[in-house]
Amino acid sequence: MLSRCGEVVLSIRPSKFQLKLLETTSHPGTDMMSFKLDRKDVQQENHYLDYKAGQYAAMDLETKEDAEGPVRSFTIASSPTEEEFILISTRIRDTPFKKKLANLEIGTPIKITAPVGSFVLPEDDNSKRVVFLSGGIGVTPFRSMVKYATDNRMPIRIMMFDSNRNEKNILYKTDFDQCVKANNNLKIIYTITGEGQGGSSSSIAAAAAGSDWKGEIGFINKELLTKYMTNDELTDSIIYICGPPGMLKAMQKLLQEDLRIPDLRIEIEEFTGY
Ligand SMILES: Cc1cc2nc3c(=O)[nH]c(=O)nc-3n(C[C@H](O)[C@H](O)[C@H](O)COP(=O)(O)OP(=O)(O)OC[C@H]3O[C@@H](n4cnc5c(N)ncnc54)[C@H](O)[C@@H]3O)c2cc1C
Repeated sequence: MLSRCGEVVLSIRPSKFQLKLLETTSHPGTDMMSFKLDRKDVQQENHYLDYKAGQYAAMDLETKEDAEGPVRSFTIASSPTEEEFILISTRIRDTPFKKKLANLEIGTPIKITAPVGSFVLPEDDNSKRVVFLSGGIGVTPFRSMVKYATDNRMPIRIMMFDSNRNEKNILYKTDFDQCVKANNNLKIIYTITGEGQGGSSSSIAAAAAGSDWKGEIGFINKELLTKYMTNDELTDSIIYICGPPGMLKAMQKLLQEDLRIPDLRIEIEEFTGY
């Protein structure tokens, strides 16, 4: 980069930030919470958190009593097109880290590293078709990529399958509905699994879905994928999978063994820790 006087200025990307907590939201009927953080660093003027849609960062809450330590990785669920904030969502469970996070006061500065990761949209070719397979809280990078592609009117075709234990656990549904309205290249299929309701049979899933549920019921499987996509469409796509370890294992088996999708066409982000 050249300065106004003509000398070469090295553009150094900061590796650590302290971002102010702007807003916290609970999602009724679930153990999930979302957090909006300012993109501007509280200590260094002009330091602004920059990222690619789909990347993640490590958050340090300096919790001393947590067996897993004071740091957790979180995907940035917002899109870089959302200029005022970054969005993080997680399940609040009984760990000191999560309890501290849930109870932070608005305005608290939070330590976070510069975002990293390669679970991002294809950078070379927007004519490609992508398929997103999302399990529960694994939806965070997909919100970022869907919103980014929609706001930038990208021609990329996106088919997303979003699997959740019940309807209440479908995170970002309002945002996704707006994106589907605005983006003719985007289609989203929701399925309810009934997991965590004491079993996973389709009758439990149906009960979890409720009588007015109009989406799919059961886990993402070959029947579901081929109901909405031809074999050619599937094998011609780049397939992204994100979710907890058990879901990833099942999806990898489905794609590699049942559908014979080459590894080169599969992108995986594992949420370790669940
Ligand atoms: C690249 C990457 C990106 C990630 N992105 C995200 C993200 O966007 N969002 C996110 O949430 N995580 C994300 N993670 C995972 C995250 O870093 C944490 O590991 C995860 O949230 C687990 O947090 P925790 O260790 O506090 O344990 P938690 O799972 O929050 O809590 C564990 C405790 O809760 C209890 N518990 C376990 N299961 C249940 C249950 N079903 N119901 C009630 N209690 C239970 C147990 O007693 C256990 O001690 C990501 C990880 C990676 C590597």
